Amino acid sequence: MGQRSISSEEYARQLDLSDELARFKEEFYVEGGVLYMDGNSLGLLSRRAERTLLDVLGDWREFGIGGWTRGERPWFYLSERLGEMVAPLVGAASEEVVMTGSTTVNIHQLVSTFYRPEGGRIKILATELDFPTDIYALQSQLRLRGLEPKEHLVEVESREGGTIDEEDVIAAMTEEVALVLMPTVLYRSGQLLDVERLTREAHERGIVIGFDAAHSIGSVPHSFSDWGVDFALWCSYKHLNGGPGAVAGLYVNREHFGRLPGLAGWFGSDKDRQFDMEHDFLPARSAGAYQIGTPHVLSLAPLLGSLEMFSEAGIERVRRKSLRLTRYLIDLIDGQLAGTGFSVVTPRAHQRRGGHVALEHEEAARICEALKDNGVVPDFRAPNIIRLAPVALYTSYTDVYNMVRILAKIMAERQYAKYENRRGVVA
Ligand SMILES: *Cc1c(COP(=O)(O)O)cnc(C)c1O
Repeated sequence: MGQRSISSEEYARQLDLSDELARFKEEFYVEGGVLYMDGNSLGLLSRRAERTLLDVLGDWREFGIGGWTRGERPWFYLSERLGEMVAPLVGAASEEVVMTGSTTVNIHQLVSTFYRPEGGRIKILATELDFPTDIYALQSQLRLRGLEPKEHLVEVESREGGTIDEEDVIAAMTEEVALVLMPTVLYRSGQLLDVERLTREAHERGIVIGFDAAHSIGSVPHSFSDWGVDFALWCSYKHLNGGPGAVAGLYVNREHFGRLPGLAGWFGSDKDRQFDMEHDFLPARSAGAYQIGTPHVLSLAPLLGSLEMFSEAGIERVRRKSLRLTRYLIDLIDGQLAGTGFSVVTPRAHQRRGGHVALEHEEAARICEALKDNGVVPDFRAPNIIRLAPVALYTSYTDVYNMVRILAKIMAERQYAKYENRRGVVA
């Protein structure tokens, strides 16, 4: 790239020319001219996801109830089939993964399965920066066992408000802790935790450990199986582009197969026996055992198309581009927005960064409004965080360049000053 300055448009164009994933961008729908930077909240619709949803509707039209077993996509096996497609993204064997439920339901399912308080080993460890639903689920799991969340849920504190230090998590893994649930990537700051290390440390202390990978799935590769992670769950409507309310996923390490689900239901049955309709529950010998009821087939269908793209692109390539995009974004912000009151909350080290960049600014809410009026879709997290997710499959380096140029103009012209300091219902 020679001497060309990183702040030039030509530099962005050169990066796009050597982008090995560039061809995927045209498969996604985005309003003309819009710079979509919110793929960590809701990924965009692709033509392939649209097609597979229509295919499944077609199966319903054609086969009626026969769709459970007929056609190219029999619904009875869809959750397992999609689990097989997701397995490479989390580094697990096919039978360790299934697409089912929602993120919150899967937390309930897996915590009710793996939380086994015994004697003095009774506490659950999380972090104070967790997504609220994770905490609500853990609190209610404790209450269901007659335990007081204030006493038995330990939230590791952040030293500076944005990130969690692994040392602090490890120090909190005492003999009183029965189970740890950690995010892989923190939803606000975008910090990536060291999953392998935390798993090793937990196991050395006899503690079961699981991860919420909602913000890393489809953006950061994992090796859950090799690392011995006990369980994990994730969301499909963010980086996996499965659509609003898409069916989520879970992983259970095969060494736990056979363990009775905390919340049993007939779709967790051994598939060959499910329709025997016996009252003795015979769970599947796979992660499939942790399904509960009839799958939401129409909310699984887009994933057939969407995950195909991940298979073609490869998660390692996705990660490589994602890191380049976020690095480029941070460099441009450092260079072009210096002195405008922004600070980058996301860790700068590659091994500590997920797929989005979080900026702190006291005028964050109003700046987001100004961005939207300028054709950028950002993401606001109260009180003062702007999250920007350049997504490897559909964001170009030129998009990032243009977005930062718009942001710099908004700041230079104080455009944000004309907006009310208020957030919407969904923000
Ligand atoms: C997005 C997200 C959720 C969402 O849970 P739902 O059950 O899909 O509403 C939960 N936890 C984390 C960490 C998330 O990022």
